[in-house]
Amino acid sequence: AEKIKGIIPYDHCFIFLVEAGERSAELKVVRGFSDDHLIGQTLPLHEGLLSLVVKRRAPIMKVDLHERERGKGIFPSGSSIRLRPASFLGLPMIVQDRVIGIFVITSQRPNAFDDQHKEFLKMLCSQAAVSIADAKLHDEVNRLATTDGLTGVANHRRFQERLNEEFERQAREAGRFALVMVDVDHFKKINDRFGHPVGDQVLKQIAAALVKTVRKIDVVSRYGGEEFAVILLNSGPKESYQLAERVRKAVEGLSPVINGEPLTLTISLGMAVYPDDARDRQTLIERADRALYAAKHGGRNQTCIYSKIPA
Ligand code: GH3
Ligand code: MG
Ligand code: MG
Repeated sequence: AEKIKGIIPYDHCFIFLVEAGERSAELKVVRGFSDDHLIGQTLPLHEGLLSLVVKRRAPIMKVDLHERERGKGIFPSGSSIRLRPASFLGLPMIVQDRVIGIFVITSQRPNAFDDQHKEFLKMLCSQAAVSIADAKLHDEVNRLATTDGLTGVANHRRFQERLNEEFERQAREAGRFALVMVDVDHFKKINDRFGHPVGDQVLKQIAAALVKTVRKIDVVSRYGGEEFAVILLNSGPKESYQLAERVRKAVEGLSPVINGEPLTLTISLGMAVYPDDARDRQTLIERADRALYAAKHGGRNQTCIYSKIPA
C-alpha cells in the first residue's frame, strides 16, 4: 500500500482478508484516512463492487462512477466506510482458486486509474496472495504445535516457552508473577464412573473455566494429563492468591450433571511467586508443585501458597 502510492496516485487504499467461505472480508490495512479506526471491521460480501471482485475472481476497474454508484455501490450497506470516490480499482488475491484477499484503491478524481495500473497490480496481487497464504499456513502450523488438541489451551511445550520468556523479561524489568499448578481432585473416579470420554469433556470444561476466570494477559496451559499450569502475570502473592481462589470457586461452581447424576468437581492449586519464592524456573515449578502437594494433603479443593506451607 505504501509503495504503490508512489506509483499509482490513489486517495484511499484498502486490503481485506476474505474468510474461508468467501462470505465476509476483514479490513486489515487502510491508507488515506487520518486514523486506523476502520481496521478490523468485517464486511459481508453480498453486494457492491467489493463482492463482485470476489464473485468474478477478476479485477474490476471503474473510473467514471456515477454519483449514485459511489456510496453503497462499492462497499456493502452497513459498512462505516464513508467514501464517494469517482474511480475504483479492486483486485482479488487468489491462491489455488480461493480468493483470500481483496486489494482496493480509490480516487476522488475520475479517470485516476488505467489498464497499465491494473496489470501492474494484478501481478503484485498474485505474488502478495502467495505470501499471505504462506504466512497463514505458518501461523496455523505454529498454532497446532503450541496448542493442546483437547482443551485448546497452550500445551506443555508452549507453557515452558512462555515461562522462559517471562524469566527473560524479568531480567530486564523487575516485576513479579505467580505460577499456579492445578490438579483435578479424584479425577480417576470420574473416569472410572463415567468413562474416559466423559473425563475428557470434563477436562475441556475445566480448561474453559480457567481461561474465563483469569485475565487476558495470563497464560493457561495443560501441563499434562489432568494438570494445568497457569502463569499469572504482573501479580504478587496477594492478588495471585485471590485470582487462584476465584479459579478454584469457578470450577467448584461448574457442578456438571452427567447422565442425570450431579458431579462434585473440584481442583487443588499450588502457587509459588517469582521472585518471592524462587528466582529460577526449575525451583519455581518445584515449589508450586510442593504447594499443590500440600493442598492435596490439606484436604483438596483449596489453594496453597509455597511460602505458607508449614515446614
Ligand atoms: P488426586 O489428584 O485428587 O490425588 O486424585 P486423582 O484421581 O486425580 O489422581 P491422579 O492425579 O493420580 O490421577 C489422574 C488421572 O487422570 C489418571 C488418568 O487416567 C487420568 N487422566 C490423565 N489424563 C487424562 C485425559 O486426557 N483424559 C482423561 N479422561 N483422563 C485422564
Ligand atoms: Mg494428577
Ligand atoms: Mg488429580
